[in-house]
Amino acid sequence: MIIVLSHDIRTEEYENIKAYILRKGVRLHESEGTEKRIIGIIGDKRDLDRNAIEALPGVEKVIPILEPYKLASRKFHPRNTVVSVRNARFGELEPIIMAGPCAVESEQQIWDIAREVSQQGGHILRGGLYKPRTSPYSFQGLGLEGAKWLKQAGDTYDLPVVSEVMEIEDLDTLDPYIDIFQIGARNMQNFKLLKAVGRTDKPIFMKRGNSATLNEFLMSAEYILSSGNERVILCERGIRTFVEYTRNTFDLNVIPMIKNVSHLPIIVDPSHATGRTDLVIPMTLAGLAAGADGFMVEVHPKPYEAFSDGNQSLNYTQFGQLLQDWQVIKDAILTLRKRKLEEVEKHVSDYSAHLS
Ligand code: PEP
Ligand code: MN
Repeated sequence: MIIVLSHDIRTEEYENIKAYILRKGVRLHESEGTEKRIIGIIGDKRDLDRNAIEALPGVEKVIPILEPYKLASRKFHPRNTVVSVRNARFGELEPIIMAGPCAVESEQQIWDIAREVSQQGGHILRGGLYKPRTSPYSFQGLGLEGAKWLKQAGDTYDLPVVSEVMEIEDLDTLDPYIDIFQIGARNMQNFKLLKAVGRTDKPIFMKRGNSATLNEFLMSAEYILSSGNERVILCERGIRTFVEYTRNTFDLNVIPMIKNVSHLPIIVDPSHATGRTDLVIPMTLAGLAAGADGFMVEVHPKPYEAFSDGNQSLNYTQFGQLLQDWQVIKDAILTLRKRKLEEVEKHVSDYSAHLS
């Protein structure tokens, strides 16, 4: 629930309200940037009596929040969250370009790709180290050895690196090497892992499970946020449907929908969403047009030789084509993004009206 405070609330009244709520064993979240002062309540609210709170001096009214997610909700946090990773700012005007191989395969492979991603204007280097493969006989990743190469290549070309963590134990091992921890689609509801990454101070790139609803997706983000880590980046990577000509179905609807209900940045991954190289370029552009804060694509010098996901990887020429096509529509997209950001600001200033 959200408590809207009276405009002339006195300091003692404010402290009294806070103390009353904290005694009930829930947490408070004070929202910034709104004309009216509001307090969000997070936690198990069984012991909270809405009428009793409304009767406290200094309270104007109490508004229940129907969504199960709170910290991930735009109602709690009306402005967009911006997650900064060195020079890259997820959730601001400029969409972020993330690229790299499905998996780090050798020292030379990741250095070569890092150079290409950097030269073509990418912002973040990806590379899997622990691969969640459907078959136990498929390549499982190079683990720590690959992490060292990934970091060296990233440092050399000034690219922060993102890689998936599958186990809580990987967090400490990978911490010195990885700038952004990725939670893979298969682990989106591994709640212990979500809580563990929520206790780190690294940005978390969390992919949508392949059958996750919007609520489930945001509730998983809520696990990370409520564990203390506010640096969450969402990723749409396709969901399972009856469609059989692609690996997954790219749920474009979810991009503007997430923007409506949440303040978190969202990235599209058309490589996993389609599973087909020939669909990656058009669907990346579609994702950007739908309002994505960036894209992640798999890039490999010789996709036909890739240890994993070669049939959805772009070669260097195709990656170059994607970035050229992006330039063609970029100005138009930035104009639309600017307007959206202005709408968010307007919504923030109208927030008190919205709450009444
Ligand atoms: C990946 O990005 O390497 C990956 C395994 O993706 P997903 O978790 O979306 O399947
Ligand atoms: Mn992959």
